[in-house]
Amino acid sequence: MSVPKATLFKARLLEHGKVYVANKKELAYIPDHSTAGPSAGLDCVFFGFEKKLVRLSLSPMDDGCSYIPGEGLRFQGETYPVVEVESVLHCPRQAFLNLDSNCRYGCLFCATPLLSSHVNRRVMRDEVVVRIVERVRRRIEGVALTTGVFDTPEESVKHMARVVKALREHFGDSLPIGVEPLVTEKRHVNLLYEAGADEIKVNVESFDPKTFRIVCPELDYRLNLEMVRYAAEVFGDNRVCSNIIVGLGEPEASVDEGARVLADWGVVASLRPLTLHPLVMGRLNEATGGRAARPNADRMIRHALKHRDVLEERGIDTRKFKTMCLKCTACDIVPQKDL
Ligand code: SF4
Ligand code: SF4
Repeated sequence: MSVPKATLFKARLLEHGKVYVANKKELAYIPDHSTAGPSAGLDCVFFGFEKKLVRLSLSPMDDGCSYIPGEGLRFQGETYPVVEVESVLHCPRQAFLNLDSNCRYGCLFCATPLLSSHVNRRVMRDEVVVRIVERVRRRIEGVALTTGVFDTPEESVKHMARVVKALREHFGDSLPIGVEPLVTEKRHVNLLYEAGADEIKVNVESFDPKTFRIVCPELDYRLNLEMVRYAAEVFGDNRVCSNIIVGLGEPEASVDEGARVLADWGVVASLRPLTLHPLVMGRLNEATGGRAARPNADRMIRHALKHRDVLEERGIDTRKFKTMCLKCTACDIVPQKDL
């Protein structure tokens, strides 16, 4: 099957990952600056074209992709018409909040713990979250919560559950709520479900056990997968998602295999191109023997096509997600939405 031109363009932009803007004052919206996620600490801009959305980090120089407000994206010698899309809180149409900016774990691909310290740690209390969401209510269709783990997974899950409860009490069922915690016990999943979360994201990170042990040396591969599976039992089909990072040096087949196993459980994987964040690049290269690299457009398309067939066989639909990355779509090629 042929891949739509706009999807190929999105995959090429994702491969490149960044954009140069000569005069940032001409941007229609203030760039997003997150404390979590693939581009934590970097300024990012969202662009829309033909029902596609892509997030690019701002580059200090023009190395093949630049944005000229009013004209479009100049990419590899051609100009494409795109529109800037407003990021409300971290992404378009959602308030995606990081409840704790610090994390005790040192996953090698993640910049979150390196951006914060005991001194400038920022924790969002439930009443603060409710106030923030209230302020942007008219511009959002959902709320999403993520968190670093400063103390224990138990503490961060309990805090997240308190926030979910407070949001539910204040907004009733008018806003879907997605949560992205680190869970290490089944009751953590139960707590968040009982608090009123609609969707949950429990990240596999790498389905290849060898790669997982290298990049998440303090986490437990088997336990993590067990938590994903249990989350699917509790939340049900089309309500659980999980990042599988592509480009950590894993065998290519392990990505497709991970997406298939998760789909069998009713879970949708976000096949996320690795961001070689400047803060983590050195250690990641060292640990993976130089094999960590952002995947190219062809590889992203290959994975997404296989993933789409698997989801369709299993009757899973990415379009049903109301929060987090599958709703947003800006960082990945999302099966059934992008192709
Ligand atoms: S658990 Fe790992 S991936 Fe998650 S915030 Fe902490 S260091 Fe980052
Ligand atoms: S796809 Fe996910 S990580 Fe990327 S901008 Fe959207 S919500 Fe954030």
